Amino acid sequence: MIVGTIQRIALRTPHDHGEEHPHYPGPVRILILGGTSEARELAAQLAAAGTDVISSLAGRVSEPRLPAGHIRIGGFGGADGLADYLKAKGITRVIDATHPFAATITANAAKAATTAGVPLLVLRRPAWDADPSWDTVPDIQAAAAAVRTWHGDTVFLTTGRRDLAVFAADDGHRFLVRTVDPPDGPVPPRMTLILDRGPYTVESETRLMREHGVGLLVTKNSGGPMTEAKLHAAQDLAIGVVMVERPPLPPGTAIVAATVAEAARWAVQPG
Ligand code: NAP
Repeated sequence: MIVGTIQRIALRTPHDHGEEHPHYPGPVRILILGGTSEARELAAQLAAAGTDVISSLAGRVSEPRLPAGHIRIGGFGGADGLADYLKAKGITRVIDATHPFAATITANAAKAATTAGVPLLVLRRPAWDADPSWDTVPDIQAAAAAVRTWHGDTVFLTTGRRDLAVFAADDGHRFLVRTVDPPDGPVPPRMTLILDRGPYTVESETRLMREHGVGLLVTKNSGGPMTEAKLHAAQDLAIGVVMVERPPLPPGTAIVAATVAEAARWAVQPG
C-alpha cells in the first residue's frame, strides 16, 4: 500500500478544477464525497492508516470543518465531470458519504461510478426511528403546506438555508430559523435567525425552544446524534414535529453501509 502524505490543501473556490493533489500511481486511492461528520471520521481513519484518500466538499459552507488527508472543494460539473475526475485521478473506490438529503450528488456519483467502472459504496447513517406523533411528509414543499395549516404561532425551522424559500410566503407564522451560514435567498417575513451548528444538547435545545415560545419543529430526517437533541426536547415540551422524509437512493444502489467502520473496511478490502 502506498503511504500518502497527510496534508491540508489550500481552499479553492467552487468549480476550480486545478491540480490539488499529485497524481502518483498506487493500488488504492479513495475518493470520499463528504460534507458530513461520518465523512470526516472516515477520512481520519483512512488517512491515519496511511491510505491515499481524497475528500471532496461542495464548498457551500464558508468555514467547513476540514477532513484529514487530501481535500478538493467545488462541484465536478455533473456526473460526466465526476466520471472524468475518477479516471484522471486514478480513483480505485468511491465512498458517497454525503448528507442523506444531498440527492443530486448521490445520483451523480452512482452514474459516474458506473461510467468510470469504479466501485461505489454509499455510507448513510440510519434515519431516526419514526415516532407516531410526528407529521411525516415526503418533501420540503409538503412541510411548508403542513405549516401553513398549523394554527399556532412560532415554528422552529432547522431544514437548512437553501430550503427557506418555500416558507417565504408564510406571513401567518413567526419562524425561528437555525442555519450554519446566513441565508442568501428569500426568507419568511417574520424570522428570527440563529447561526449555529451542532452538536446540540437536550438542555440547550429545550432552553431555546422555551425562550422563543416554539410550538412546532420542522426538520429533515437527517439521522445521527449531532442534531437529535431537538427531537427529545420537542417531546419533553410536547411540541409538534413535522418530519421531512429522506429522498430515496438511486435505483440499483448496490452497496450501502450504515457505519464508518463498515465503510473503512470496504475501502481497503482487496478485489
Ligand atoms: P446536492 O444538491 O446533492 O448537490 C448539488 C451539486 O453540488 C452537485 O451536483 C455537485 O455539483 C455539488 N456537490 C454536492 N456535494 C458535493 C461534494 N461532496 N463534492 C463536490 N461537489 C458536490 O448537494 P447539497 O444538498 O447542496 O449538499 C452539498 C453538500 O453539503 C454535500 O456535500 C452534503 O454532504 C453537505 N450537506 C448537505 C445537507 C443537506 O441538507 N442537503 C446537510 C448537511 C451537509 P456538480 O454537479 O457540479 O458536481
